[in-house]
Amino acid sequence: MASDHSHFLSDQIKSLGESATLKMSALARELTAQGHDVISLSIGQPDFDTPDHIKDAAKEALDKGITGYTPVPGLVKYREAIINKLKRDNGLDYNMKQIVVSNGAKQCIANICLALCNSTDEVIIFTPYWVSYIEIVKFAGGKPVILKAPIENDFKVSAQQLEDAITANTKLIIFSSPCNPTGSVYTKPELEAIAEVLRRHKDIFVVSDEIYEYINFGDPHTSFAGLEGMYDRTITVNGMSKGFAMTGWRLGYMAAPEWIASACAKIQGQFTSGASAFGQYAAAVALDSSLETSYAMRDEFEKRKHMIIGLLQDIPGFRVNDPQGAFYIFPNVSHYFGKTNGKDTIIDADSFAMEILNNAHVGIVSGSAFGNDDCIRISYAASEETLREAVRRIKAFLADFS
Ligand code: PMP
Ligand code: GLU
Repeated sequence: MASDHSHFLSDQIKSLGESATLKMSALARELTAQGHDVISLSIGQPDFDTPDHIKDAAKEALDKGITGYTPVPGLVKYREAIINKLKRDNGLDYNMKQIVVSNGAKQCIANICLALCNSTDEVIIFTPYWVSYIEIVKFAGGKPVILKAPIENDFKVSAQQLEDAITANTKLIIFSSPCNPTGSVYTKPELEAIAEVLRRHKDIFVVSDEIYEYINFGDPHTSFAGLEGMYDRTITVNGMSKGFAMTGWRLGYMAAPEWIASACAKIQGQFTSGASAFGQYAAAVALDSSLETSYAMRDEFEKRKHMIIGLLQDIPGFRVNDPQGAFYIFPNVSHYFGKTNGKDTIIDADSFAMEILNNAHVGIVSGSAFGNDDCIRISYAASEETLREAVRRIKAFLADFS
């Protein structure tokens, strides 16, 4: 076996956690390669293909020779489409200098944290949080401050909790709505209450991650930047991955105050340059076209949501909320902690996820990756038949635990 040279790695990399969503998907792929029939519900990725009109636009871009470097903050055509989208869907006015296109919303979040965090800065993260927020904040040098919300509160942090957590060092707040991993959607009054707290505290910025905007089953989407006094301190993050089934295209964008956008473009100019040229061309067409295909996917996700809630409620000890968006469900499975089937014992959410993967051959992600040790995340971006089979396997495996 090759000797271990990992001590040569930088301290920063040694302390960086691996993405649990990507790790669980890789483990599921490994088991599949070994010949097992594994159902992977661990990665957040629509099971639909990118709609044809978007793929056709990418082909057209290639034929037109749109294959060179792009301006670092994004192709003009795509930034124009983003500006129009933000006006049309969110009632927000932005200019070209306020938009930065990146290789996925993930890079937008990294750019923002690198641009804003100093070592004394606290970053309040609404929890359950999307897996990468915390590692990106730490990598950027900020101090994550976890604000927990349990299932009883529909996993939503209250304005009072935020007020209590703010200190003189608070610099940034990060949350997603619709939320990954819970599917919860903050209502307009809930966001207003949060904005009201922030109006009392100057110099705190907000990353509003709205990447699941088009996968919303309830009230119309509220953009945080549109709330009174919030425009100048909000960085809206969005992208093509979820609403347009374009995860592999790696295209996300932010809309921000100009000074933040230009700092992010400066970082990106040194690390990756502008995102893919023909991809951006096609993404512009996606935003400019009818959203019919996005809403058709949303309707399908909503049907599956109702189905999976019913199936999970049928497993003894599972507690579920009713997610209003995204394509995740985040059941509380703590009932099983400490229980055994005579062979294996489920200790916590991590061991729950591993037991289910190795024995029921269903890939899910432990809630601990999202800051909640009682829950697991199931992505229901899969066919109804696949979901039924996955839940059948989980239920059958757990039936022997007492
Ligand atoms: N934010 C949230 C809440 C996510 O779930 C994801 C992952 N899909 C991202 C950001 C990053 O998305 P991408 O980099 O694919 O645009
Ligand atoms: N964001 C998706 C998820 O939560 C994709 C994987 C990742 O980028 O972490 O599963």
